Amino acid sequence: MSEEREEPKEKFDRPEVLRGITALAKTPCGKLYVTITEHEGKPIETFLEMGKGGACQNAMMEGFGRVITKALQWGTPIDEIANSLGGIRCGSSKMQNPSCLARVAGKLKLGNNIRDFWKEKEEKKDEG
Ligand SMILES: [Zn+2]
Repeated sequence: MSEEREEPKEKFDRPEVLRGITALAKTPCGKLYVTITEHEGKPIETFLEMGKGGACQNAMMEGFGRVITKALQWGTPIDEIANSLGGIRCGSSKMQNPSCLARVAGKLKLGNNIRDFWKEKEEKKDEG
């Protein structure tokens, strides 16, 4: 039942500077910023921050970002992580609206194309 996962060959040695994208998710509970950094074309790290979160809420978000980062560094596909957030609702989301976590999941999926995201930007810059 449990799938064999490959252990990371070595602990991720974070370079001092990583390139990333920060997406704004407008959730029923307020603005939420999802930052995904890239290493060798793959999403490797996330940071989550509520625009107007309380101290505890932001601490939870920071922890959540770290756990996602750890999963990425162990080779978990970002889609798997995003899909695991489905179906969790918070107080503010109406039944018909995507929940806050569903919106986080949507932003995490941007990590799939993180390499192409920059490629497109650079191509546009070269053209113009
Ligand atoms: Zn919420």
